[in-house]
Amino acid sequence: LPPFDPDDPLGIDDLLTDEDRAVRDTVRRWAADRVLPDIADWYERGELPGIRELARELGSLGALGMSLTGYGCAGASAVQYGLACLELEAADSGIRSLVSVQGSLAMYALHRFGSEEQKQRWLPRMASGEIIGCFGLTEPDHGSDPAGMRTHAKKDGTDWVLTGRKMWITNGSVAGVAVVWARTDDGIRGFVVPTDSPGFTAPEIKHKWSLRASVTSELVMDEVRLPADAVLPGVTGLRGPLSCLSHARYGIVWGSMGAARASFQAALEYAKTREQFDRPIGGFQLTQAKLADMAVELHKGILLAHHLGLRMDAGRLRPEQISFGKLNNVREAIEICRTARTILGANGISLEYPVMRHATNLESVLTYEGTVEMHQLVLGKALTGLDAFR
Ligand code: FAD
Repeated sequence: LPPFDPDDPLGIDDLLTDEDRAVRDTVRRWAADRVLPDIADWYERGELPGIRELARELGSLGALGMSLTGYGCAGASAVQYGLACLELEAADSGIRSLVSVQGSLAMYALHRFGSEEQKQRWLPRMASGEIIGCFGLTEPDHGSDPAGMRTHAKKDGTDWVLTGRKMWITNGSVAGVAVVWARTDDGIRGFVVPTDSPGFTAPEIKHKWSLRASVTSELVMDEVRLPADAVLPGVTGLRGPLSCLSHARYGIVWGSMGAARASFQAALEYAKTREQFDRPIGGFQLTQAKLADMAVELHKGILLAHHLGLRMDAGRLRPEQISFGKLNNVREAIEICRTARTILGANGISLEYPVMRHATNLESVLTYEGTVEMHQLVLGKALTGLDAFR
């Protein structure tokens, strides 16, 4: 039998192809080199300095729009995209958020619903990281229930005139292009908005205690005039943004396990070296129970993510299955981080260790891309056939 590997107790590595491992190792090395040395400092300052350079490097790695094909995208498998999300989030959820929003939300919307002209114009430069994108769905008064959105676009001759506010928009202030969802006379449509359009501003939201190394913004659109071809032709209705969100949520199923892995590893190392009552705290049964439970949830979660990845690659992944994964993995990841925090004692609250940073980041991850409650309701509806949303 192969020896027991504390880093991979279930032998999940055996399920990966050589190419999967190569992607994983490349992204892991990049994150160790470019993010880990500075992330605590960025987090403390509440900034992501060098975001444009980081985006270009992520573009060179092929991590932007990674599982999309053509237009300079890497055409990787869903499993490989997931592994990249895990490795990025093991560094920080803010970096994974940058990549998720760019690839799974903004680029995915253009790739799936855009005209050939829109794709040619935006996707290659977004894949390279030259242009950062954002995705505006949430509004100050409409989060879990976006159907009530107020942002609207009206026809004026052949032009569109877009007015409204979006809130909590990742990458907003640094984006060159925003995909904005708005109400029209024909239903909800997606608009491709160059962020230098007159009437468009994106003030950054400050004073966050979570995802501090991530740009989060408000989008203000005051009669932004757009040409007729700014609308995404391929979709009308909430199905558009929701299918983009499904793709991004899939990445979070993997990513959240990265934050959990980093926190688990920090706790395990600490438990083996920190001594109290003349022995390592890892020798106490209560600490071992915590570590065993954390490892079980961590590797079950990775196994679940891999299973969903294979289904996505086979074209058989249902949205309810993504809800299953997002609900379980983010909820368990935050529990793992909180338990890791207790193992580190007072040191657990310090930025010298990654666990509190990951735990506070996951508070956002628990809420965005569908709250825990929304995913419970999705599964509840699928199980019972009864809609409890309203
Ligand atoms: P609400 O919808 O007001 O929910 C508040 C609480 O009520 C939650 O617990 C919710 O589950 C519960 N609730 C609501 N309805 C029900 C119900 N029917 N039954 C039971 N409970 C219910 N959005 C974007 O469009 N683009 C982005 O790039 C983006 N990035 C984000 C980045 C960060 C850091 C954060 C924090 C958020 C981001 N969001 C983004 C917004 C995010 O998607 C929303 O916050 C999320 O959808 C929840 O909406 P809300 O905050 O308005 O909460």
